[in-house]
This record gives sequence, C-alpha cells and structure tokens, in this order.
Amino acid sequence: MNNFEYKQATDTKDAIDLLSHSPEAAFVAGGTNIIDLWKYNLTNPSSLIDINHLHENAEISMLENGKTRLGAAVKNADTAYHPLIGQKYPLLSKAILAGASAQIRNMASNGGNLLQRTRCYYFYDPDVPCNKRNPGSGCPAKAGYNRIHAILGTSEACIAVFPSDMCIALAALEATVNISGPNGERNIPFSQFHRLPGDRPDLDNTLEPGEIITSIDLPEEGFADNYSYLKLRDRHSYAFALVSVATALKLNGNIIESARIALGGVAHKPWRNVEAEEFLKNKEANAENFSAAADIILRDAKGFGYNDFKIALSRKAIIRNGLMALNPTSQLPGAQPSA
Ligand code: SF4
Repeated sequence: MNNFEYKQATDTKDAIDLLSHSPEAAFVAGGTNIIDLWKYNLTNPSSLIDINHLHENAEISMLENGKTRLGAAVKNADTAYHPLIGQKYPLLSKAILAGASAQIRNMASNGGNLLQRTRCYYFYDPDVPCNKRNPGSGCPAKAGYNRIHAILGTSEACIAVFPSDMCIALAALEATVNISGPNGERNIPFSQFHRLPGDRPDLDNTLEPGEIITSIDLPEEGFADNYSYLKLRDRHSYAFALVSVATALKLNGNIIESARIALGGVAHKPWRNVEAEEFLKNKEANAENFSAAADIILRDAKGFGYNDFKIALSRKAIIRNGLMALNPTSQLPGAQPSA
C-alpha cells in the first residue's frame, strides 16, 4: 500500500506552486499512463496534483495569428471530434482516433499524450535491468525479444520507441509546445520536445523539473487537402504501432510543393527526415519518388533481430501512405480509425 496525498490545483500557477513545495509529487490529468506506471512501481509520488480543473488549459481556440491552440487539459477524444480540428487538421483527428481505445481517448489529456512513456516490456519488468528505469543497469532488449523496438536513432543504452499516435501527426504539422514553470513561460518546437535516448534514456523529453505543459499550438497550415495517417499493428484496435506514418502534402496539380513525413513506432521520438522532405519538393507525387524518399529516411535504419522486418515495413508504409495522401477521402480500410 502506497500512501499519498491528493491535491487539486486551481490554476496553472497554483499547480506549479504545489509541485515546487513537494518535489516528489506528480501531476495527474487523465491518469491513463501514470496509474499503470504506479502499479508497476515505476513511479511512487508522495502526492498527486490534479490538473483537470485548470480552466485556462481546457479549451481549443483559434488565435489571432491564424494558429489553433489545443489546451493541455482537453481530452484526446474531444480534440479529435472538435469541428475545427476535423476540418482544418484532419491528419491530427485521424491519428488520435487510431490510438488506444475509445475509453482511453475519453480520459487521456493532450498534455499527457506527449508525456506517456515507452511500452518496452523490459521497462515494466522490475526483475530485469533497464537503463531507462535504472540508469547504468543495462538494456536486455538489444539482444532480447525486440519486435516492437526502434530501428532509427537508437543508442548503446536504449532502443525503446515512443508509443504515441497523436504526436506523430503533431510532428508532421510542426506544432509548438507551450510550457509554464518556476522560471516563467517558454515554447518548444515539437521536433525538440522529445529526445533521442543517447546516454540518458531515462529522460524522455526536454521538460525541466517543475514545468507543466499548458497548451499545444498548431500552425495555420493544416494540410487538410492532402494528408494520411497509416498505422500498422498486430491487431486492428487497441494496439500500439509497429510502424505508423503521418504524411502531409501541399500539391500543385500532381507536383509536390512541400511534404512532411513523420514516422511512429520506429524511434524514441516522432521521426522526421528533412532531407527526404526537401527531396520531394517539385517532384511528381508518385510511388517512385515516395520510394526514393523512403530510401533517404531509412538510410541509417538498423534492426536488432526480431524487429528487422520494420525496415521493409516502414519503406512500404511510406510509399503507400504517400499515395493515400493524394486522395484522403477514399483511403484503404487499414487506414481507418479503430473506433
Ligand atoms: Fe530499458 Fe530502453 Fe532497453 Fe527497453 S530498450 S530495456 S526501455 S533501456
């Protein structure tokens, strides 16, 4: 039995103050990951600070500069089904609805989605070493059963993947994460929010101690005409991606003016390759060019045995999803939301 205190924060400043007075505390919103982590003894907060009632973070709104702000406390389901998101950022709606189950999406918050931890089986098993859980202890996944693990951006210390679907779309859309903390407010470009493991796999992201995500801003360009999110997994519902791809294209006829391709299930963070996106500029949107882009993205990919298949699967997924983005309204059944 773990005793803990429960406190309800009234606003963002109150949440930051409560955490600063109790460094062993943790924020809770939907609780869809932290409760799991707690059950597995991967966290043991002295108090839970409930941030569900921070009204300033509980809305989706259009900003004067054309951007759209997603409050961190807004639930994933409410975000996916919001009319503004559905019309202007359908890639985001589709990615969210490909994730988890309807029940979890109803509880999980936008801020919490960014902060969920890897589902590496060894990370959750206290009887084996794990550099993410216990730095310096080792990584049994490298020579073990690594079917779900990373093929890009890995390190000697860790080959875990980041499991979110929503964040793969946010990476493709080039969102910005808005943060408050003891030293004030700051913004982090989405590409810099999550980390590669390097020699500090215990750190998932670039949040500083005591900071809280308040909202996520989406740029004005939502790529609503040509987009696709493809999630490949072991079963059609309630499973994490083996490989996922978010593709967003700006087309002039069949010529690509700009392209964004973000991959999930393959790295410790949403994976983008700017060189591949630049390669596609002013090229025809066809399988041959998406295949060449895939070659660039996967040039340094490395399997660890059981996950070798992810390299070929990623290549096929990039090509298929590029073609699906040409006609988002008639996509293949495998790309449809699971709920
Ligand atoms: Fe731990 Fe990372 Fe290795 Fe998994 S891959 S066992 S999380 S160090």
